[in-house]
Amino acid sequence: MPELPEVETVMRGLAPVMLNNKVSKVKLYRKDLRVPFPKNMEGELAGLSIVSLKRRAKYILVYFDGGLILSVHLGMSGRILINPKNNKYDLKKHDHMVITLQDGVQIIYNDPRRFGMVFILKASELETHAAFRHLGPEPLGNEFSAPYLVESFKNKKASIKQALLDQRMVVGVGNIYASEALYQSNINPQKLAGEITAKKAEELVIATRDVLRRAINAGGSTLKDYRHTDGGLGYFQHNFQVYDQEGKACPDCNCNIDKTGGIKRIVQSGRSTFYCPSKQK
Ligand SMILES: [Zn+2]
Repeated sequence: MPELPEVETVMRGLAPVMLNNKVSKVKLYRKDLRVPFPKNMEGELAGLSIVSLKRRAKYILVYFDGGLILSVHLGMSGRILINPKNNKYDLKKHDHMVITLQDGVQIIYNDPRRFGMVFILKASELETHAAFRHLGPEPLGNEFSAPYLVESFKNKKASIKQALLDQRMVVGVGNIYASEALYQSNINPQKLAGEITAKKAEELVIATRDVLRRAINAGGSTLKDYRHTDGGLGYFQHNFQVYDQEGKACPDCNCNIDKTGGIKRIVQSGRSTFYCPSKQK
């Protein structure tokens, strides 16, 4: 599933081809993904100029001249491909939407599992729209700070791992990066969120930003190559310290893994958590 760094990478990959371009045509190959495609999507978007691209949580937001936003969520398995101009594109299985831009570049949305979402909203509705109004601050923004974390985790009976995944607290820290950030800040994922100290909150904020930034940088370095592969944006190889590393030696410990069993996997709210019990207290 694409997490925040992948979505940011897709957005950054789209920006140079979409900005200051215009929508020429929108073609849909089915009625819906997780929700129906907007009614009369081509009528709404054709002829509009693209003035900016942003990301909010895991939504890619394409801003048009005149105040409309096209919001794209990649769901579990969504991919976006860029077909360069003057290149004949043969539609592939699971291609559900093709946006042709004025210069002939095509933006193709492919999604085998169809948990993705595409909708149109007014820029003025962004804060009040049902998809956005409950979202907490961005983990890379200034609002996400140690005092904010302590305040919003106060009296929480949930584990700190579950609290980090709660989109009302902070957006876009998915299952993978929650494990990685807790590892980096030496916090046991089972600790109660309400018990975090100001000092540990500070370390967690720094670690969260750091793991996300490093992944975004790794994604950015793949962008220059996208035309050489299949044109797909946003999925790239990561090096995780604990995520999916069950039984391996923890990079920060010298303990004998025959005795300790190495990195542990536990299940919290039905999702895997990976951590080192000797490093993370
Ligand atoms: Zn360890």
